[in-house]
Amino acid sequence: MAVQRLMKKKQFLPNFSCEFYCDEKGALAGLFWADEEMKLNYEVFGDVMSFDATFRTNRYDLVFVPFTGIDNHHHNVTFAGSLLASETAESYKWLLQSFLKAFGVAPKVVVTDQDAAMKIAIRDVFPDTRHRLCMWHIMIKVSEKVGTELSQDEVFKEDICDVVWTDALEPAQFETQWCDLMIKYNLTSNSWLSDMYNLRSDWIPAYYRHEHMSGLMRTTSRSESENHFFGQLTNTKLSLVEFLSHFDTAMESQRFKRSKRDHDTRYTQPRMKTNYELELEAAKIYTRGIFFDVQEEIRLACKNCMCRREEEVGDSIKFYILQVNLPGLHEVLFTPKDMVIKCSCNRYEQYGLLCRHAFCVLRLCGIKEFPKKICYGALDKRCCSKKDKSFEF
Ligand SMILES: [Zn+2]
Repeated sequence: MAVQRLMKKKQFLPNFSCEFYCDEKGALAGLFWADEEMKLNYEVFGDVMSFDATFRTNRYDLVFVPFTGIDNHHHNVTFAGSLLASETAESYKWLLQSFLKAFGVAPKVVVTDQDAAMKIAIRDVFPDTRHRLCMWHIMIKVSEKVGTELSQDEVFKEDICDVVWTDALEPAQFETQWCDLMIKYNLTSNSWLSDMYNLRSDWIPAYYRHEHMSGLMRTTSRSESENHFFGQLTNTKLSLVEFLSHFDTAMESQRFKRSKRDHDTRYTQPRMKTNYELELEAAKIYTRGIFFDVQEEIRLACKNCMCRREEEVGDSIKFYILQVNLPGLHEVLFTPKDMVIKCSCNRYEQYGLLCRHAFCVLRLCGIKEFPKKICYGALDKRCCSKKDKSFEF
């Protein structure tokens, strides 16, 4: 019944994909589906994708595996849904092949839980995709792996989060700080932490901070909220048809909220916090959620950053920027002739958004318009313009 329903959609809806396979007894072993809007979203936001076996969903005991990305409002967006009877490498391979058949291209980066079967499937079906482990899943396990006393120690939690979640460390700095932390808390013989350390290049930001848009991977780690989102709408007593209806309702809700955010971005005006012209312009360029992030950087640039010294480097000027109450200087290289700006903190490379140090330099140089190369480069798709209807699905 459920499969028939999806196959009918495939017949009548443009660009709807549905794949399924059965085991030797004829029972449903895998079901995959994606509609046209999901595909449009993947085209725009599909650089980084997470997928996870979330929960057993229905009375047939199939596990629900949604494919998720992050949209230009920094919210979850669902690319596809699927159900699997078993979580083996073979069934995941079938799933990823179905994904490829529907979407045509693999994502650049995939974020998953630490699962051996998924790992094999990704390696075999998406050979050119970078596979990262979800930091969120790993960090959630820390409490249960370090013993009762430490799991309740707030200072320990803060210390480990400072080392793990930061994107400011280089690999060698991370390694030193991690080792110091293990010694400080007597954890050098904890085998789970040692295993996680050995896998560090797969999940610690220090090891991919120079990769384009790597910051999004941390945002993508919000699969818990995705589980919650679908979890509200399903239970183990559902038939498959009921489950699919609930899924459709969840998608409608997600799409409604997204168009509301688009609407708010286009037709409402946020309050300005500085008198720097770029803040007002940012409100016109970015979606509201992203604007608040940019606005905070501009506010800090105006209120907390200052230039210590500057020097000419060919056609460019190198500025040394200090942030009040923080140690160290950030080096910002600005080339006025082609409006290229680069900061040593790497925020732009990681998140596609300028940092407070760069805004400080632009302000010092009297720049009153957003450098177009920065706003509308490879990342323009994530920066929904109020005027740009192409992002209004
Ligand atoms: Zn910076």
